Amino acid sequence: MDSLWSDDEAARFEGDLGLRVYTSRLLGRDPALVLHGGGNTSVKIVERDLVGNEETILYVKGSGGDLASIEPAGFSPVRLAHLLALARLPALPDPVMVNELRTHMTRASAPTPSVEAILHALLPHRYVDHTHADAVIAVCNAPGGEGRVREIWGDSVVVIPYVMPGFDLARACAERFPAEATGTTQGMVLMHHGIFSFGATARESYERMIALVSRAEEHLARRRAWSLPPAPAPAPRALPRVEIATLRAAISRAAGAPMVLAVHDDARCRAFARRPDLAEVAQQGPATPDHVIRTKRVPLLGRDVDGYVAAYRRYFEAHAPAAREPKTMLDPAPRVVLDPELGLCAAGRSARDARVVAEIYRRTMDVIERAALLGGWRALPPADVFAVEYWDLEQAKLRAAGKPPALAGEVALVTGAASGIGKATVESLRARGAAVVGLDLDPAVARSDGAPDLVGVEGDVADPAVLARALDVAVRSFGGLDVLVLNAGIFPGGRRIEALADEEWRRVLRVNLDANLALLREAHPLLVRSPRGGRVVVIGSKNVPAPGPGAAAYSASKAALTQLARVAALEWAGEGIRVNTLHPDAVFDTGVWTPEVLEARAKAYGLTVEAYKTKNLLHTEVHAADVAELAAELCGPLFAKTTGAQIPVDGGNDRVI
Ligand code: ZN
Repeated sequence: MDSLWSDDEAARFEGDLGLRVYTSRLLGRDPALVLHGGGNTSVKIVERDLVGNEETILYVKGSGGDLASIEPAGFSPVRLAHLLALARLPALPDPVMVNELRTHMTRASAPTPSVEAILHALLPHRYVDHTHADAVIAVCNAPGGEGRVREIWGDSVVVIPYVMPGFDLARACAERFPAEATGTTQGMVLMHHGIFSFGATARESYERMIALVSRAEEHLARRRAWSLPPAPAPAPRALPRVEIATLRAAISRAAGAPMVLAVHDDARCRAFARRPDLAEVAQQGPATPDHVIRTKRVPLLGRDVDGYVAAYRRYFEAHAPAAREPKTMLDPAPRVVLDPELGLCAAGRSARDARVVAEIYRRTMDVIERAALLGGWRALPPADVFAVEYWDLEQAKLRAAGKPPALAGEVALVTGAASGIGKATVESLRARGAAVVGLDLDPAVARSDGAPDLVGVEGDVADPAVLARALDVAVRSFGGLDVLVLNAGIFPGGRRIEALADEEWRRVLRVNLDANLALLREAHPLLVRSPRGGRVVVIGSKNVPAPGPGAAAYSASKAALTQLARVAALEWAGEGIRVNTLHPDAVFDTGVWTPEVLEARAKAYGLTVEAYKTKNLLHTEVHAADVAELAAELCGPLFAKTTGAQIPVDGGNDRVI
């Protein structure tokens, strides 16, 4: 492992806290050290308060922060003297400890300090770094335990046997560290958990972390347990969309809410899921205890979700009685599925959660395989993992968590998603918690900037292969399909019937009508497996109830599409699928309406642009976002009892009313 320290970069950070920010980000930059909120860092700084008192403040990472992107405000300033006094107490329940941490900060708006704050306070060094480095976890979850740790690090680290994080761990370190630390001590290894390093400067503490972790990597390399052999590429095959949607439905049922299920069926994940010893290595526990909050203790092997739920209940019932206070069972749905065909499937209440689960489990596979090569993977016993999973601090967070957004865990496909109503609908759905696949001819649709809840597919809705690809993307990325928004359409220039060529007529019907029939048909097996029941929103047109001259093909296609939607509402109601239609009119903030076109149209009516835009009974302008908000709302609880409806979004039109 190489140090990422750069003098040039470091020079851009000011003061002790600035350098603390810099090296924290260096740790966060390497997923082999920390993942998603894992790990924590601190620095002790002497400060003078407003009335002239001098005191030492521990700046420690705030709980829930991410080292990779931390800012100075992400560190919580806590009075060191009080932390040291707390460390001398014989016992301190963790919720009381958190209250003490929060009430002894010097900045009221700071985040809650890491639960490891007291441990950081106890270590007599200015800078303290803590990670869950892969290599360290692999060696301290392998046979040989402390003996192996001694062989690797000698007396440069103090070794702490596994203790639950929080006050108990701080107490254990308070006793063991002073007794065992020497002048050459550079760090501390926590068995089954991770590693600390420390130093007088930010750079010293960081470089020691890199050096200590490198020793674990070298130990693994010498035993041919570092470089893992590449997995053979699996034979290409069609994605089993229905099987995956069925699995997602079962997991959502177990969770009591819709779940995103991301399928990682690459060579690496499939090879791991096919290990002959999978049941042994994958059913022991997480790589480091705090992963349990994300991944649950063990993955589901295969697809028997009911069996997993029953086993989870047994695990809860076996360990809950030993807890200090009564526990509420978390939802028993798996977060990781290992299946020989599907590889690794990661489940979460949001696309972001599912992504975090997958990233954690990919590292876990490496850690398990390396430990297995050292002689065997030995995770923590279930009772210790249970204690972290059901830690009262986590349970309190759960109780405090607000209501999830209306469409959390749901998956939508929007056609014509790159601009206008389609693009606005994508944003309205995402704002309600849905993960969205956008389909459009315009390559701009593929720009998601790495957002976990948005994937773009470039292509023509009239091409069946493109529709299949869009559904594959929805299923592989998110596990199924709950919401379908049929928005893509073309509006050729005005042409009277006597001048309307067959080819143009067919082209308009192919895109505005035929493509939607094909998509409805292909999406049905997924919609019918939607945990809450599928929803279809059809973007019709004011031209359906009130056609205009010169738009025969467009008006006829939208009228036929509306009729198709009505029949779908009839046919699919028994399967819990709702189909509703919006009829927007005069939505001018779309790509078609350039200022020049608007000007010309207004002139044709003898109106100003402003008057033309509000040429409706309510004299109001209709925006793409207005249509989008209603489209998204149609998929939520407000319209849960509505199907087959046609709703105008046109500011009021006397020909429609
Ligand atoms: Zn830790």
